[in-house]
Amino acid sequence: MPDRLLTLEGKKNVKRLFDVIVDTAVCSGCGGCVVVCPVDALGYDVFAGDGREIDLPYVLDTCIDCLLCMKACPRLEYQYEDLDKLVCTGVEDDLVTNEVFGDYVEIVAARATHERVLKAGQDGAVVTALIAWGMEKGHFDGALTAERDERWMMYPKIVRTVDELLRCAGSGYTYAPNSLALREAAASGLQRMVFVGVPCEVSAVRKLEIAKSKRGREMTKNVALQIGLMCSETFTYDGFMIGKLQNEMGLRLEDIVKINVKGRVLVYMRSGEVISVPLKQARPFAREGCHYCQDFAAEYADLSVGGLGGEGWTITVLRTKRGRELFYEAVRDGVIEVQGMDDFGFQLNLLEKLAAKQRARPNRKEALAVAVAENSA
Ligand SMILES: Cc1cc2nc3c(=O)[nH]c(=O)nc-3n(C[C@H](O)[C@H](O)[C@H](O)COP(=O)(O)OP(=O)(O)OC[C@H]3O[C@@H](n4cnc5c(N)ncnc54)[C@H](O)[C@@H]3O)c2cc1C
Ligand code: SF4
Ligand code: SF4
Repeated sequence: MPDRLLTLEGKKNVKRLFDVIVDTAVCSGCGGCVVVCPVDALGYDVFAGDGREIDLPYVLDTCIDCLLCMKACPRLEYQYEDLDKLVCTGVEDDLVTNEVFGDYVEIVAARATHERVLKAGQDGAVVTALIAWGMEKGHFDGALTAERDERWMMYPKIVRTVDELLRCAGSGYTYAPNSLALREAAASGLQRMVFVGVPCEVSAVRKLEIAKSKRGREMTKNVALQIGLMCSETFTYDGFMIGKLQNEMGLRLEDIVKINVKGRVLVYMRSGEVISVPLKQARPFAREGCHYCQDFAAEYADLSVGGLGGEGWTITVLRTKRGRELFYEAVRDGVIEVQGMDDFGFQLNLLEKLAAKQRARPNRKEALAVAVAENSA
């Protein structure tokens, strides 16, 4: 930990961010506040040196109390009109309004056509196929996504080649603060990158885009496309990966080749064995901040993707003009195949059900009211 931690006494705005979001564990850990700070007064360690997990921001003594961190935070007030305008521009005539999982223009089932890509992906490998195709065609020069190490710790990763991208394919169910790496991505020289993230991260990036701050614009001007991964929770690394899978179940983390959640947590071992963990045994390891998250389907992404209980297909929600254009160009070029939703009624129902359930979580105001009350008790 840094040795210049700020005492929050006398700080109005940053104190409020910490009082109601960070110290009450409402915080998602996205790092949006950290990257927008113009004087680099907020810090964040993905993992402490000893491997212990730290995924919340802390504040240093250079803080000037400027309010930008609060404007970037996906747990605080949304400028809905500005965000809706940003996402809906150019598709107004085709837009289907949906209060539960967000407005969209079309929903399809899709999958990669190249066997190598499909095999590497979590569901239909649409994320990997689209980015790889776009990099080869010159639409993108890289991506900010996540990678896992051999013991399944997740980290943000900036990729510039298709081989690097393929190594990142698949899902890790612990948190990788991809939005925190926007600063590194902005300095990396990438001009047109794809941002891949869970919904709280997509919201943070969108809020930075509309924050009307120089720093916010600098951090997001190289984001050419946002792909949001549907998400109801992420698990703690110490609790789930170490405590449950390694210590309690005796699994060697290095021998896990894939983890997927399909009603149960399915752990695929190198030996070919598939170990099934009931979701109710995993849920106690959900990160606390996730309990305050209402956005299952990454409502402000260009494209939102999820497996939704099925195998081998990515259910893809096309939301923006750019998302739809690029997606269908990739389809026309033959790297992604598409089916309508007629044969995917189960997945569509599940999307509605999971998104509605998540919407019913304590809303931000209630969560904050509870947090403030508890804090001042
Ligand atoms: C934490 C988490 C929870 C999820 N929960 C659900 C769910 O409840 N229901 C559902 O239908 N779908 C869920 N998904 C989405 C699903 O697992 C797939 O990512 C999605 O269907 C896309 O599959 P794909 O084969 O097209 O992606 P791929 O082609 O395999 O690409 C996946 C991309 O996601 C990136 N990634 C992997 N892990 C993370 C992470 N932890 N944080 C940020 N980026 C990451 C990878 O680097 C890769 O670029 C979740 C994903 C994550 C990461
Ligand atoms: S949710 Fe994100 S922006 Fe808000 S305090 Fe936590 S890390 Fe910062
Ligand atoms: S549920 Fe997913 S999107 Fe929501 S805060 Fe947790 S990690 Fe972020």
